[in-house]
Amino acid sequence: MKRFFTVLSEEDLEDWRRTHYSSQIKPDLNDDNVLVMGWVSSIRDHGNITFIMITDKDGEIQVTAKLDECGKILFDKIREVKEHSSIGVKGKVRMMQNAPNGAEVIPEEMKIFSIAKKVPPFQVYSRTVPNIDIRLDLRAIDLRRKVLRAVFNIRHNTLNAIREFLNKEGFIEVNTPKIIATATEGGAALFPIFYYDREAFLVQSPQLYKEQLTMAFEHVFEIGPIFRAEPSRTMRHLSEAISIDVEEIFVDYNDVINLLERMVVYIIEYVIKNKSEELEVLQNKIDKPSLPFPRYSYNELIELLKKEDERIEWGDDFSTDNLKKLGSIIQGYYFITDWPSISKPFYTKPKISDEKLCESFDLMYGELEISSGSSRINRKDKLLERMKKQGLNTEAFDYHLRVFDYGVPPHAGFGLGLERFLMTFTGVENIRDTTLYPRDKDRLAP
Ligand code: ATP
Ligand code: MG
Repeated sequence: MKRFFTVLSEEDLEDWRRTHYSSQIKPDLNDDNVLVMGWVSSIRDHGNITFIMITDKDGEIQVTAKLDECGKILFDKIREVKEHSSIGVKGKVRMMQNAPNGAEVIPEEMKIFSIAKKVPPFQVYSRTVPNIDIRLDLRAIDLRRKVLRAVFNIRHNTLNAIREFLNKEGFIEVNTPKIIATATEGGAALFPIFYYDREAFLVQSPQLYKEQLTMAFEHVFEIGPIFRAEPSRTMRHLSEAISIDVEEIFVDYNDVINLLERMVVYIIEYVIKNKSEELEVLQNKIDKPSLPFPRYSYNELIELLKKEDERIEWGDDFSTDNLKKLGSIIQGYYFITDWPSISKPFYTKPKISDEKLCESFDLMYGELEISSGSSRINRKDKLLERMKKQGLNTEAFDYHLRVFDYGVPPHAGFGLGLERFLMTFTGVENIRDTTLYPRDKDRLAP
């Protein structure tokens, strides 16, 4: 058969509207008229029959064009479509065992909305791509990969679960400023910015604001960005991450440990229930963890590490090597409690029985820290004392300290890193793939 090459042009949407997503094209629609839209993921041309796969947010649709069914003009047009172009197809559904969801679309009309002018520099429809930077440079296209869509669907679901859980527990969601005048805590480096004629900073944690807000709302949570100028590129640090921050009054660290572990189990159950398909795409089998999570004190783990000949002294934070060792001994979720007071921020409450230790905890998953929390100091004199010890300029914190003249009750809370938490049950090993547009030392775009 002689083949004429038609020159394709881009068409407007006009009154074309999608009637079905790929997930809805099933045998029960047999003979129904549908209008589907998406991107061309593959074309197979067998002479008198051409198959086009259209990908949309839910999956794939097979469009099967036969010369004797759709006529020469449409048939030639279909053969000329380029992969990755965005198109719409009007046609009839036909049962077809070998097609996705057991049905295909027989085309009657097609519109090409946008012709792909370039081939992406990586395989858009493959599971893995060796070089993450090539993908990140073209993130919007990269995110169309099935694995990543599964991750971000699960992320969305996780956020729903968190809001549902904390709502039921009587928490109110708040939003605190992200532009601040002074550091929230020592340690993590801040990003300075111009604020009119002054210097300001991007917030590294909503800590002080959430503590203040318990004075009005008692139980608060925030889901918001934290910014940290992390000195090195690692698989678990971003310069901009999302923190799930929880704070409540008339409780101590043991109460929020209990709350946090129940929240983790609630989320995992929720995701298993609602996102089983996505979990399957990720080939990551997760089991509901059982409660309570194991608790180890800092002192216990120092002993354990020393027995394993690890280099660590009492008072040190665990090094990457120490954490790897811990992760090889303790799997799954567990808490490290009662840290040395010197290793935790100024607002952390020392233990009454031993001031060298504080009422604090980290939630771990193997070698990965996913949350830190504590009982907070609620007395102004104690707070001032700790701030001075840590070399902080107390005047800069006047806006915060003044609240403590008005009856701040005992309170406690935690910050859970959303991206790190997602790594624990999606199987994603590089934190960059749990966030849409990762920021790190070397990357500021897209
Ligand atoms: P790390 O020691 O691993 O750098 P951190 O102890 O400095 O973390 P916290 O200040 O305790 O972090 O913050 C609470 C939580 O916020 C952490 O447990 C983690 O889940 C998350 N988090 C902190 N910094 C980052 C970051 N740079 N990228 C991603 N998540 C982070
Ligand atoms: Mg921490």
